[in-house]
Amino acid sequence: MRLGARALLFSAALLGPLEAADPYLPIRQRMVREQIEARGISDPAVLRALMETPRHWFVPPAARDLAYEDHALPIGYGATISQPFVVAWMTQVLAAGSNHRVLEIGTGSGYQAAVLARLVKHVYTIEIVPDLAKSALERLRELGYENVTVREGDGYRGWPEHAPFDRIILTAAPPSIPQALIDQLVPGGRMVAPVGDSFGQELVVVEKAKDGSVRKKSIGSVMFVPMRPGRE
Ligand code: SAH
Repeated sequence: MRLGARALLFSAALLGPLEAADPYLPIRQRMVREQIEARGISDPAVLRALMETPRHWFVPPAARDLAYEDHALPIGYGATISQPFVVAWMTQVLAAGSNHRVLEIGTGSGYQAAVLARLVKHVYTIEIVPDLAKSALERLRELGYENVTVREGDGYRGWPEHAPFDRIILTAAPPSIPQALIDQLVPGGRMVAPVGDSFGQELVVVEKAKDGSVRKKSIGSVMFVPMRPGRE
């Protein structure tokens, strides 16, 4: 009994106060095991990032108990928080390093940005819906993420002031890869993007070689909300 209590305290100290008091921790552990690891995601850093990101704070309050289910969830304004497996898969394929600066297009809830924030130096993320940009920013601040910068704007233009980026991830689907984003990728950089329309999309990996040449490869089918054209 005493030993048990001590083991509990010890693990609480290891996990930190947030996770120690988190009633969703066992559900999140099961999500990572059964939905992510079981489907072949094996990068330990990616698995850890998913384990450490409290997805239930990124969904609308009424959907909190569904946060760790195996599907996307609506977050308002026609946007969705992606299925956990898709977040893990894209994060693994992005292969971002701890010194990387990453651009995300389509902040939505801020969940994908939060997962990336645990793996990289800085995440810059752009959201076209003002209310979503504002609530994601507030949520990330409240949860203590300091290496994420959120901006309302049109992702088609990228973020020239902070370019070039080591990695770029799109979580809304354009009909083809925007040239401005290819231009804002470092030589040797990589971009992961769903490409297509609301009837069908491919997940495309774009690699920019050191000499600036670009190679694209489709790695599977996905379904994201289409990227909205900018207003200008
Ligand atoms: N990454 C998000 C999920 C994104 S859903 C998450 O983890 O929750 C796709 C998001 O892309 C939506 O919020 C949508 O408003 C946004 N979006 C659509 N078109 C855009 C554009 N042109 N520029 C920036 N964001 C866009």
